Amino acid sequence: MTSTFSQRQAQVRGRITQAAKDFGRNPGDVTLVCVSKTFPAEDIRPALEAGERVFGENRVQESLAKWPDLKAEYPDVELHLIGPLQSNKAKEAVALFDVIETVDRPKIAETLAAEIKRSGRHPRLYVEVNTGSEPQKAGVLPQEADAFIARCRDELDLKISGLMCIPPAGEQASPHFALLAAIAKRNNIPVLSMGMSADFELAIQIGATHVRIGTALFGHRG
Ligand SMILES: *Cc1c(COP(=O)(O)O)cnc(C)c1O
Repeated sequence: MTSTFSQRQAQVRGRITQAAKDFGRNPGDVTLVCVSKTFPAEDIRPALEAGERVFGENRVQESLAKWPDLKAEYPDVELHLIGPLQSNKAKEAVALFDVIETVDRPKIAETLAAEIKRSGRHPRLYVEVNTGSEPQKAGVLPQEADAFIARCRDELDLKISGLMCIPPAGEQASPHFALLAAIAKRNNIPVLSMGMSADFELAIQIGATHVRIGTALFGHRG
């Protein structure tokens, strides 16, 4: 890309602010999660220097290679796990991430509950909902979301502060965003992580509090 990070940042942040205003939302209520997956530390540093502090990664292993050093340099970074979490990585994930957006099945909820108790670290937790009920995709099914959230809260004593979704590729995203918003509302969940480079303005219209943007900030992933 010929543009600098700061130029792309200004563009994306400008669009977030404009969308919030257009849809009667406070721009300050929409958090930009910079999705830095696949990009090395030297590509992330310009984002940190440009003031970004909230980042999303989809792999625990890759994050462990990049983020401990960057977090030491920038202690106010907030790191989100936005990819699937395996139980055998739960310990490392709880130690490194400030937010785990992909609580998606009873087994991982139980493992996280045990690790949170053991470590005394409390990352914020979002439940991932498979709004399109796609067989290959992670996330709880929409019709199982209420029961899963209740189980996390009541039986495992986990605080669920958000929901996240990734709408099916090639489909209108708005019904999926609306479904996620409805599930959040009836479960008293304040945070909605939805919207990516291609559709974040629509997500803001439907109530996103967190938009996860990679390509529009960092360029195409190799
Ligand atoms: C990669 C990824 C994104 C960012 O997607 P872009 O289209 O590059 O903005 C957002 N959310 C999740 C879960 C991702 O894996």
